[in-house]
Amino acid sequence: MAGIPIFYSDELGKFDLGEGHPLTGSRFRYFMALLDRAGLLKDCDVISPIPASDDDLLLAHTPEYLDRVEGLRKSGGWLSIDTPVTAGATEAQRLIAGSALQAARLILDGKRDVAHTFGGFHHAGRDFGEGFCIFNDVAIAAKALVERDGLKRVLVLDTDAHQGNGTMDIFYNDPRVLFISIHQDPKTIYPGKGFVWETGEGEGKGFTVNIPMPPLSGNANYIQAYEAIIEPLARAFKPEFFIRNGGSDPFYADDLTMLGLDLDGLSMVSRRTRDLALGTAGNLLDMTVSGYGDWVSYGWLAQFCGSEALATDYKSFSPKQPRRAPATTEDSLFRATAGMLESLKNELRADWKCF
Ligand SMILES: [Zn+2]
Repeated sequence: MAGIPIFYSDELGKFDLGEGHPLTGSRFRYFMALLDRAGLLKDCDVISPIPASDDDLLLAHTPEYLDRVEGLRKSGGWLSIDTPVTAGATEAQRLIAGSALQAARLILDGKRDVAHTFGGFHHAGRDFGEGFCIFNDVAIAAKALVERDGLKRVLVLDTDAHQGNGTMDIFYNDPRVLFISIHQDPKTIYPGKGFVWETGEGEGKGFTVNIPMPPLSGNANYIQAYEAIIEPLARAFKPEFFIRNGGSDPFYADDLTMLGLDLDGLSMVSRRTRDLALGTAGNLLDMTVSGYGDWVSYGWLAQFCGSEALATDYKSFSPKQPRRAPATTEDSLFRATAGMLESLKNELRADWKCF
């Protein structure tokens, strides 16, 4: 039997945004070592990514933006306050975008149902880069599926703690790509976008769906959101292709966010996503890149086990999870989540019969 496809090469380690930057290039290598330690690497087919061409990048970005990035790559400089353009990061981002295209091809050709890439650079829009993101690999893959392969319905589910403002920008008018983002309430975190009323424009009206979770939302609150919105919506949309933009920054001890999933929660979200993706589109392109602090690899392992439905005891390969504040707010979190989900349904009712 063919192994689990995972797109990786040591070249990804060139993703270096400078000393002290939270998006560390070492994360990829650490995770591969952890997969090995957990006895899972032997079940994987590790595939070397091929860099995306300019034509590939132009699927999601404007020619002027590519010129700007190229200029900054040569001269040095910043796309935004948190996003320096370095030669290494640009090269690694091309590899990551290329791996998304290769993984999509592998699935489209019927060679695999599920494939994994180290991606999810969802803060890069058509003509802007920010939030550590230069090229939007998620959007490039989704655009290729609709523009080059002629698919009519691609679903992108973004479970990163931050809202995918770049992906939203690229597909805001496009009904071929249903973009669902579940993230920490944008009133409390970068990028300050992703409110319930941002639902798309023109032909794309109803095809952008934002689920802003209250800070500290944990495993039970994510189940509320999956049951109320994500699962019925995906079934109604009937995607031909399912992309998940993951990452472990919804982990409760993440350095940059304030959500409340533990390792079991990260795994559960991935497992539910897998079941939904295979039950609707029959496939899943699973991407992961985020996570800040000491828990990145362990969060990724929990996710990986969920999205592959593996029985591996991922916690036995992790340190003891850090203490968390006592959960005195569970009732109020449940009510706040339910209230948000109800107002989101009200926004979506005109466009979706399932609500
Ligand atoms: Zn994030």
